[in-house]
Amino acid sequence: MTVAVAADFGTRIRRREPLSRHTSWHVGGPAEVFFNPRDRADLAAFLRGLPADVPVYWIGLGSNLLVRDGGIPGVVISTHGTLDDLERLGETRVRAGAGVACARIARQCIKWGLGPAEFFAGIPGTLGGALAMNAGAFGGETWRHVLEVETIDRRGVERVRAAKEYRVGYREVVAPAPGEWFLGATLAFEQRPGAHADEVQKLLARRKETQPIGEWSCGSVFTNPPGDHAARLIEATGLKGYRIGDASVSQKHANFIINHGAARAADLEALIEHVRAAVERRHGVSLHPEVRIVGVP
Ligand SMILES: Cc1cc2nc3c(=O)[nH]c(=O)nc-3n(C[C@H](O)[C@H](O)[C@H](O)COP(=O)(O)OP(=O)(O)OC[C@H]3O[C@@H](n4cnc5c(N)ncnc54)[C@H](O)[C@@H]3O)c2cc1C
Repeated sequence: MTVAVAADFGTRIRRREPLSRHTSWHVGGPAEVFFNPRDRADLAAFLRGLPADVPVYWIGLGSNLLVRDGGIPGVVISTHGTLDDLERLGETRVRAGAGVACARIARQCIKWGLGPAEFFAGIPGTLGGALAMNAGAFGGETWRHVLEVETIDRRGVERVRAAKEYRVGYREVVAPAPGEWFLGATLAFEQRPGAHADEVQKLLARRKETQPIGEWSCGSVFTNPPGDHAARLIEATGLKGYRIGDASVSQKHANFIINHGAARAADLEALIEHVRAAVERRHGVSLHPEVRIVGVP
């Protein structure tokens, strides 16, 4: 299938864009069409003009994505560097676009004397990805702060939805209607004058001691099962360092899988499946991937 797209989107459209350039694991085949909109109006116009049978996928900073080697058919919409407005609405409310990096929300909230937002500094993705995942770190969680979200659907129709319309759990968000994506959110914090950038640095330094930060990973591969930790189970199965191709289970944190440079998505997926099956055999616990595995092999 060749995706027909109006010519007037210029260089914001790229064909056969390698998604390995857009994921933190640095793997993934091409997006048939990759679109980086200028703004909301540009995005809505693009979606309105897209034939109804073309599949659409969204990507933020690709920090929770395993894109298979065959890539993603149809259109991939990237919010990297766009939809990135961040403003204070009142005493304690903040509005952020889906493309705003979570770390920027943490930094800006500290400047505004609002919190607790430090946890956002531990999430190397966009707000859109954090909303889709209910990302959390250091005891904080995205949806605890959401008042409402703005969405757009496949036909370019925009909506505002209250947080209570979503069913939210641990790394799980169920939308009231399928086929809507996040354009941004209004977030609520408390006044925390005196909150300091040093506190974020301390949290990040503590994390660096236990996690392989700086290596090519996707953060935690599996969610923690109730009452236990995926990392503990994987380590107790003797899998630290286990390798397939150029991918291995991290020696530092067993719930991280590292691409040492030349791994393919197939290696990472095979390793994920090996770990899942081995833990199930040894402990009778079925681990579920936190990372989203998408695309064609
Ligand atoms: C080193 C490292 C550490 C990490 N630590 C943590 C952590 O402590 N806690 C944690 O929760 N996560 C962590 N992660 C995982 C990841 O950063 C989060 O899941 C993050 O929220 C993903 O955001 P993203 O923009 O990269 O999303 P992507 O990986 O690009 O996408 C993830 C999912 O969100 C969807 N999505 C993206 N944007 C939108 C949108 N606008 N509307 C609708 N859906 C959208 C995508 O379609 C996909 O299904 C870590 C990752 C790394 C690499």
